[in-house]
Amino acid sequence: MLKSKLKTMLASLIKQIIAKPDILKGNIDVSLYPVAPHVWGMKQIFVNLYMIENPADKSWVLVDAGLKFFSKSIYEMAAGLFGEEELPSAIILTHGHFDHIGSVKKLAEEWDVPVYAHRLEMPYLTGMSSYPPPDPSVGGGMMAYMSPVYRSKPIDLGSRIMPLPEDGSVPGLHDWKYIHTPGHTPGHISLYREKDKVLISGDAFVTTKAESAVSLLMQLKKVSRPPAYFTSDWNAARQSVEKLAALNPDTVATGHGHPLKGSKMQASLKRLAENFSDVIPSSGRYVNAPAVADETGVKYIPPRTENDYARPMKILGLVAIGFAAFRVYRRFRK
Ligand SMILES: [Zn+2]
Ligand SMILES: [Zn+2]
Repeated sequence: MLKSKLKTMLASLIKQIIAKPDILKGNIDVSLYPVAPHVWGMKQIFVNLYMIENPADKSWVLVDAGLKFFSKSIYEMAAGLFGEEELPSAIILTHGHFDHIGSVKKLAEEWDVPVYAHRLEMPYLTGMSSYPPPDPSVGGGMMAYMSPVYRSKPIDLGSRIMPLPEDGSVPGLHDWKYIHTPGHTPGHISLYREKDKVLISGDAFVTTKAESAVSLLMQLKKVSRPPAYFTSDWNAARQSVEKLAALNPDTVATGHGHPLKGSKMQASLKRLAENFSDVIPSSGRYVNAPAVADETGVKYIPPRTENDYARPMKILGLVAIGFAAFRVYRRFRK
């Protein structure tokens, strides 16, 4: 059973690379795009971060910090938008997964600014607790299969990291509030500007199929569930999507995928909330019971299921990453 599943996954991985070899070379890039008035986004390969300005006093904050080794592109984006002298007043994290906090330590130190996250996300940002292990058995594509190699260990931001205020206000942003949207992680938050209904949802839901490397790199547009391999409480994830859909946002900008606007997106988001059961994986480590966490970190992790092939997947993931790194190396050598 395990062997045949592994074979299918390996075949699918190879098929994806053969079908679209350019996914490993053509999109190793960063791009900058406007999201809404005073909101800009940056895509780093497959993950997004955002810069938000206060129109009144031109101060600004950074939302999420992208990948490690990509801080230079963030400095350049900031300098281009606000000028080299205008440093942000804060960094706000939607959650602490490796692809959203890659450059946070470097940026916070260099800019000498505070970092804010929800109090339930603090254990993973202060070195107290690892996230529950990812679940590659939920499948859906190469990103899911490779998930055992993603970093789930905490970083330690020391005294720079502070909990967001309990009243929903966002330090450094006048027109925005944050909404606790757990499920993908315990202290996941989304940001919302009510006056023109702009929502930054982090990974509470995304606008591409995050488990598939092809969808991620090609940025196929689809309002989708949170990235499944990292989601450790599906019931909470459902409630969070319901909460966000009830806002009926006009613009959504997510952790992965393009920003989307208008009635088609609104209908898709509503559909996702109403039919969330259809997108919960049929089996997986966290499907029947969630991981349990509190302010001190993870307290309970459901046992591995018979479908949990984390260890062999780790080897497969390392091979895939090695292959991708080789393609990148060859591209830059040319
Ligand atoms: Zn995430
Ligand atoms: Zn993410």
